[in-house]
Amino acid sequence: MNEIIKVRASSWAGLFDCAHRWEGEHLLGIRKPAGMRALLGTAVHAGTATFDKSRMDGSNITADEAAGVVIDTLRCPDFEVDRSQDDLSMRESERIALTAHSLYCAEISPQFEFVGVENTLDPLDIDCGHGLTIRLTGTMDRARAAQTEAGPVIADVKTGTRVIEQGRASTRGRAAQTGTYQLMYEHTERVSTAGSQILALSTTSTPAAAVSPVFDARRVMVGTEGHPGLIEHAAAMFKTGLFPPNPSSPLCSPKYCARWETCLFRER
Ligand code: SF4
Repeated sequence: MNEIIKVRASSWAGLFDCAHRWEGEHLLGIRKPAGMRALLGTAVHAGTATFDKSRMDGSNITADEAAGVVIDTLRCPDFEVDRSQDDLSMRESERIALTAHSLYCAEISPQFEFVGVENTLDPLDIDCGHGLTIRLTGTMDRARAAQTEAGPVIADVKTGTRVIEQGRASTRGRAAQTGTYQLMYEHTERVSTAGSQILALSTTSTPAAAVSPVFDARRVMVGTEGHPGLIEHAAAMFKTGLFPPNPSSPLCSPKYCARWETCLFRER
């Protein structure tokens, strides 16, 4: 019997952080509302995407005009938000979000020639054997494709308080997400990608911006001769139905994990 399990590409990276949490959220439907910091990140992404799309289509709206989208998203999110989480007021959220948005529009966006912003991607099937197929679906979420001399690069916008370390955009743990986008972009556009890059916007009380070097995230997904990549590891999880916990995950807390209350593996 053939079974196809549909998985949103944007969730894929979480599978390799704590697979047990991922299973809870995406296969068992155990969810929790987002906090103010997540909403702040979504608002910055919405504003910067509006700005980049206007650069692509030639309408060239200003950073200030695109900032309206930042405020609208903060005030009227289209997902459930627990505004008591994160000890961050609306006023402070707006200040941080608008500063990060301005930094992006002035310092990061002009460095790139975008050819796709938050593209819809063709489904990509991963054959796990024994009649089981994982179908990755969705959009590039918060990522863009930028044209370079070496080919398109997947440029993923990341917001948060730890996205910049010692003045550099951190690429740690990013390959699962951007590698997935590289594979799906290649599958959709029938081109080879040249790598991935992180466009980091720190949303601490003093926002900052940084761009990582280009790195080969695709290789982490597909592996090398004799070294299975993340796709093979994921296939093994789906095949066995065993999704291992990771109580060392930085997201292993009641704030981020919807499975926290019932999880056998977390610290007590
Ligand atoms: S409580 Fe920790 S170990 Fe358990 S599912 Fe959540 S993140 Fe994973």
